Amino acid sequence: MAGVLGNAVAHSKSPKLHRHWLQRYNLRGDYVPLHVNEADFSQVVRTLPKMGFVGANVTIPHKIAALEVADQVSDRAILIGAANTLIFRGDGSIYADNTDGYGFLANLRQGAPGWAASDGPCAVFGAGGAARAVISSLLESGAEKIYLSNRTRPKAEALKSDFGSRVQIIEWVQAGNMVEDAALVVNTTSLGMVGAAEFRVPLDGLRRGTVVTDLVYNPLRTPLLQQADQAGCITVDGLGMLLHQGVPGFERWFGVRPEVDDALRAAILG
Ligand code: NAP
Repeated sequence: MAGVLGNAVAHSKSPKLHRHWLQRYNLRGDYVPLHVNEADFSQVVRTLPKMGFVGANVTIPHKIAALEVADQVSDRAILIGAANTLIFRGDGSIYADNTDGYGFLANLRQGAPGWAASDGPCAVFGAGGAARAVISSLLESGAEKIYLSNRTRPKAEALKSDFGSRVQIIEWVQAGNMVEDAALVVNTTSLGMVGAAEFRVPLDGLRRGTVVTDLVYNPLRTPLLQQADQAGCITVDGLGMLLHQGVPGFERWFGVRPEVDDALRAAILG
């Protein structure tokens, strides 16, 4: 057994994702959504291994608490400051990891195989939890310069102080300027998502061939990706990040490294 702990968790796509893989690889097991309040989180996590769970994903609002409940934490989860994957080990200990950065890069490599971190500056919109995962994975893969712009500047400054001088802050009112010499443009804000505010940053400077990716996947073709398509950019949607971030957890829990392919995308979208 595995599952996803969150509040609320009813709309999570993770059960559909992991159940698809369980069925595809003919494995015995299940993956369930678990609605858990913040006050109960650590007690629930400590109980799950006793109930036959091999691990769990963790989503909002428990990603920081997941670090605290763990006996051991991966370096990348420490750097990001949050965990989204728990592994319950045979000796009763709990290991916490963060696979969002892995999922981001794996999606980018699948959707834009020609992109390399050495191609040029990366422009990142947003400085929330997802931005931390994106920036740490870009730095780890060798990006030399990351332009970072966020509506609330102190949050961008906190990221710069954690990640160092390769991160350069651009004022939110000038965020559009970042795309002019960027080889990669990433939206990590919730702008453009169904029910959220529009993505209004001017993108006239986008160049043909620039890789543009959006973490928002509802809608799948966000206004940012549509504009980037029109400018001749290579676009990568955010659904693949969600699918790829599930791979390391599934492999550790169920012993098979699952594939992210068109059949999986169709199953999740359907
Ligand atoms: P978060 O920590 O709450 O950060 C939200 C970010 O959006 C902040 O940078 C925030 O800026 C910005 N923002 C929100 N409303 C804004 C507005 N009206 N104008 C300008 N900026 C605004 O959330 P998160 O966890 O980083 O997630 C961000 C997005 O990524 C969400 O849409 C989430 O669904 C998506 N996501 C996708 C995946 C995937 O697998 N594809 C994974 C993780 C997250 P301020 O700091 O100024 O508030």
